[in-house]
Amino acid sequence: MRDSTLFAGLTDIVGNRHLLTDPESLQRFGLDRTDFWTPKPCAAVLPASVDEVRDIVRLANRHRLAIVPSGGRTGLSGGAVAANGELVLSLQRMDSILEVDTVGRSLRCGAGVVTGHVHQAARENGFYFPVDFASSGSSQIGGNVATNAGGIRVIRYGMMRHWVQGLKVVTGAGDVLDLNRGLIKNNTGLDFRQLFIGSEGILGVICEVTLGLAEPPPPGQVMVFGLPDYDALMALLGEARRQLTLSAFEFFSDNALGHVLARFDLKAPFSQRYPCYGLLEFDRNDDAALSLFRYLQEQGIRADAVISHSDEQVASLWALRENITESLSARQPWKQDIAVPIPVVPDFIRDVGGLIESEYSPLEAVWFGHVGDGNLHLNILKPATWDMEDFVAQCRRLMMSVLEKVQSCGGSISAEHGVGLLKKPFLQYSRESAEVELMRRVKAAFDPAGIMNPGKVFD
Ligand SMILES: Cc1cc2nc3c(=O)[nH]c(=O)nc-3n(C[C@H](O)[C@H](O)[C@H](O)COP(=O)(O)OP(=O)(O)OC[C@H]3O[C@@H](n4cnc5c(N)ncnc54)[C@H](O)[C@@H]3O)c2cc1C
Repeated sequence: MRDSTLFAGLTDIVGNRHLLTDPESLQRFGLDRTDFWTPKPCAAVLPASVDEVRDIVRLANRHRLAIVPSGGRTGLSGGAVAANGELVLSLQRMDSILEVDTVGRSLRCGAGVVTGHVHQAARENGFYFPVDFASSGSSQIGGNVATNAGGIRVIRYGMMRHWVQGLKVVTGAGDVLDLNRGLIKNNTGLDFRQLFIGSEGILGVICEVTLGLAEPPPPGQVMVFGLPDYDALMALLGEARRQLTLSAFEFFSDNALGHVLARFDLKAPFSQRYPCYGLLEFDRNDDAALSLFRYLQEQGIRADAVISHSDEQVASLWALRENITESLSARQPWKQDIAVPIPVVPDFIRDVGGLIESEYSPLEAVWFGHVGDGNLHLNILKPATWDMEDFVAQCRRLMMSVLEKVQSCGGSISAEHGVGLLKKPFLQYSRESAEVELMRRVKAAFDPAGIMNPGKVFD
């Protein structure tokens, strides 16, 4: 019988303890942070080395068994969901920092290292790893590479792609490739490392990662502005970029703040509420921060601002922004992670907000995101009395209109979370059919049997 020979083969590779088939494990390993699918993997396998990953992929090829590579499962687009009897391949045991090169300023680690542990290892060696976001305490470096993660400091440091110097991968065919070997200069033909970054597990398994490290930034400060509208937010962004060395420029709507204050024991930044808020992090500069506030006054913009004077204040101001996703999670929001050109942001939010109010009431739209790079997170909340099926149907209808607007302004349907299952039906709003066809052919080259995360990104 297929299952018994398959499971015996997997047990031979990883040992009995690291092949999990109990219901609790299948539930846990079969889902990411999306709530729209029922987990149904056949098993979860936990290899400890590149060779074990290679052997598992080769065995799966022989059995024509689909594999879902699994990191910290903090993904927000269903990329790590296993709902069709797939084998979940978790990298969680490949969690060692393998080498820190303090001269070359790089760090090599297993793909299963938690992102926050890379931050810590960089710090302990006098460096800084800048890719950071609210889930970095649970997400893994392999997952960050596979999603080309962004986060809060992209405006200054770029996305994950910018920091990946080398990858050791097992392709869907079971070949081990050492891509770029951590080199800075290597012009020797096509750079397959770049294909694996953002590939969402459809080409193969990322096993080891070499990351560049940055100089630690000078001491920073955080300011939160309460603002009358999104035009004021963009005026603030333009002037802040002129006057300050920014490392983050985030925004959130007033109802996003309301959800955070209702869920967490945090203090509101101002005695009165504003329609939207901008959060800026920058290299310490008290004078510029003051003149930024004066600039808004000169423009006739009625704003309020609070600035941090201690690490505790930095943390409590950031908590207003970083806790938004958690504060909404119990409401099972329909999430969209959109990028639009920066000049379009105010009109885009106004148009979509107006559409939701006029045609989709009582759906509630919560806006926040990394507006400094045009990245808007739109979260639609389910009314308590609606069942999930009606909610999903309404959200799909709404999303067609939203994504048509994204397409017409030259934006992207997925700024940083990836396509996964959630955005697969909408891929044509961002990519030409000729591009998707080429993606299929690239996948077939790395994964001829089509066993790597099938059904994700495209069919
Ligand atoms: C509170 C919260 C805040 C977030 N904020 C941000 C943010 O600001 N910016 C951002 O970009 N994301 C954000 N995310 C989304 C998520 O944390 C990122 O997408 C993260 O990079 C996913 O990493 P992971 O290890 O959890 O991957 P998973 O969810 O496990 O997997 C994601 C995808 O990568 C594939 N994959 C995982 N590991 C490997 C591997 N070793 N080899 C091949 N494929 C693999 C999976 O198959 C899946 O397709 C947030 C999530 C939460 C819950």
